[in-house]
Amino acid sequence: MFRYEGETMKSIARNAVLFLAAAASLSSSLAIAQDGASDGTITTETHRFQMLADGVYLAMYTVPMFNSNSLVVINDEDVLVVDSHITPRAAKQLLAGIAEITDKPITTLVYTHFHYDHAHGTQAFGDVQIIGHEFTRKTMAGDPHNEPTFQREKAGQPRAIAWLESQLESATSDEQREQLEYRLGLARARAEATKGIEPVPPDTTLTDRLDLIRGDREIQVIFCGRAHTGGDVVVYLPADKLVYTGDMAFSGPSFLGDGHVDEWPDTLMKLKELDVELYVPGHGPPFTDSGRLDLVADYYRVLWKQVVAARADGANAGEATSRVDLTSFADTLGIRRPGTDPLAVARIYQLLDERGD
Ligand SMILES: [Zn+2]
Repeated sequence: MFRYEGETMKSIARNAVLFLAAAASLSSSLAIAQDGASDGTITTETHRFQMLADGVYLAMYTVPMFNSNSLVVINDEDVLVVDSHITPRAAKQLLAGIAEITDKPITTLVYTHFHYDHAHGTQAFGDVQIIGHEFTRKTMAGDPHNEPTFQREKAGQPRAIAWLESQLESATSDEQREQLEYRLGLARARAEATKGIEPVPPDTTLTDRLDLIRGDREIQVIFCGRAHTGGDVVVYLPADKLVYTGDMAFSGPSFLGDGHVDEWPDTLMKLKELDVELYVPGHGPPFTDSGRLDLVADYYRVLWKQVVAARADGANAGEATSRVDLTSFADTLGIRRPGTDPLAVARIYQLLDERGD
């Protein structure tokens, strides 16, 4: 079982005051509250730290801006953090929150994968050991500024700012203006924070598995196979039956633009072999039902098959994108319209082209 009880008096006192506000602002809090498991949640101005087990927190960003989750693991002597957030600015806010929970030093950072929203806050961490898959190191030590997913994010920032500015010009009420100004401020701050980023590659790599023994705690960093990228790792806490999956396992489909869609189902089945009661994803709230992994694996299999068939039929990637029909997953995954993400189809074409199929 995962546990919510206990923790320090400090957190309990804070929690009593802040839980209602947090629960009201986030539906995922409500889900937890419905489980009767609200204890141990700590909220700061920018984060909600949800206690998943003794000394184990899921850090969720509550600022309305794209960011990933982080996992915070407080050991006997030190703290290990999984994923460093999207910018050093957001990471500083994360670190300030962690400092409210513990004064133990952060010694170790693990990257679940190389994506900017999980790995570009690292400059704020100072001198820590950084663990990641060797593929993550290769990508981040290569040409990280020109890595396509980060490039797309950078190219999108001025467009998002321009769009908000145009909306602001045509705003009709003070309330609307205020809301747009707030969002514009966030978008500008993020663009500014992005300029100073120098991605920091892992200094410690693994290919299959790395076990860390910290005091009484065993932390396993495991590569289950290629999935969302060529080098996703999960962080498994066997005593707590809890696994932090990054972006390789959600309760629904993930971003496929850098994925290995054909290998991903097998990777999910390997993940399912772990003795787990709580899956903690890199975005959104945790989930308990391992049947979601089967469902998502099935979705990837069907998508792959349909794109391969369209390509064999002579369709280009754009045509294949609109030909894909995954509405058989309407009830289970909420896919209500035909078509899919063009980046997913482009990625599948790229994989097929590379292997000369
Ligand atoms: Zn990702």
